[in-house]
Amino acid sequence: MQSMFDTIIIGAGPTGLTAAMYAARRMMKTLVVSKDLGGQLMWAAEIKNYPGIKEVTGYELAQIMSRQVKDLGVEIKAEQVISIKKSADSSFRVETSKDNYESKTVIVAMGLAPKQLNLAKENEFVGRGISYCANCDGPFFKDKTVAVIGGGNSALDAAEVMSKIAKLVYLVYHKPKFKGFESLIAQVENKSNIIIMLDSDIIEIIGSQRLEKIKVKRLAEQTTQEVEVDGLFVEIGYAPKTELLTGLADRDSKEQIIVDSSGKTSLAGMFAAGDVTSSEFKQVVVGCGQGAVAALSAYKYLQEKEADVSH
Ligand SMILES: Cc1cc2nc3c(=O)[nH]c(=O)nc-3n(C[C@H](O)[C@H](O)[C@H](O)COP(=O)(O)OP(=O)(O)OC[C@H]3O[C@@H](n4cnc5c(N)ncnc54)[C@H](O)[C@@H]3O)c2cc1C
Repeated sequence: MQSMFDTIIIGAGPTGLTAAMYAARRMMKTLVVSKDLGGQLMWAAEIKNYPGIKEVTGYELAQIMSRQVKDLGVEIKAEQVISIKKSADSSFRVETSKDNYESKTVIVAMGLAPKQLNLAKENEFVGRGISYCANCDGPFFKDKTVAVIGGGNSALDAAEVMSKIAKLVYLVYHKPKFKGFESLIAQVENKSNIIIMLDSDIIEIIGSQRLEKIKVKRLAEQTTQEVEVDGLFVEIGYAPKTELLTGLADRDSKEQIIVDSSGKTSLAGMFAAGDVTSSEFKQVVVGCGQGAVAALSAYKYLQEKEADVSH
């Protein structure tokens, strides 16, 4: 166990990294704990709406932000937080996959994670045929046969990207019509190496050591078909994973953390910001703004607590 931090920030996406910058500049003893560096930025090929930088890849933006944080002397631990407990003295005990840390405040910036199909063998075959990011893993499937599941812009985009890399792409969606931009739908429909399977769902993942086939069910006819594929890109959206906050901070029906305009959660000393919150717009610049606000609110909370003690 290390000495007490002023704040522990969970998540090193743009929100958590910005919170870390603001906390460090207020001379708060700060630790960032995150499963990975950059969060969803790592899946974004190009960012063209981050003020001050006309065009940047998600990877580059994550590198710039994390360098800024490290230059301020903040350590970023590559660990997964598995539990948070509030102690009797109102500090927090944060348990990770490797260690335990204590902090006076916590800023939750855990963002969103790709939704899973929840089929048997899905987790087992991640990295062995199954991926949640065509932009990241697409090049591993050069001249191979892949499937993309999903019907929104991410799935359409993934199918379009993969049609340039792979030999053949199956695009599987459970509804009769796609729900993405018309221009993207048209692009996908015009590709000769994309086979569109609407009104269809993947019901089984088949393979011994890695993905070999998917079983597709035609929903109208109630028939099934096994399709040989080397890769499967799951592009069915993103959701917060906030089970570890159960019994701590209030969440809405989508498991998003409820915050006020200063980033306060329902639990004193716990703040949240960015995509993990119930805030409507999920964008880099929004998360950065909210991360800054949450860090400044955590600082104010500590100052007010200290003032209370000294009176
Ligand atoms: C393909 C794609 C393209 C996009 N393009 C744009 C764009 O052009 N412009 C734009 O503004 N936005 C874009 N976005 C949205 C933008 O990336 C998000 O709004 C932004 O990344 C949210 O930042 P965040 O830090 O709140 O969450 P995230 O980026 O999701 O980061 C959350 C972090 O928390 C970590 N974490 C989660 N749980 C734990 C745990 N238990 N323990 C430790 N760490 C944990 C994760 O590993 C991750 O590092 C795009 C998103 C995607 C997926």
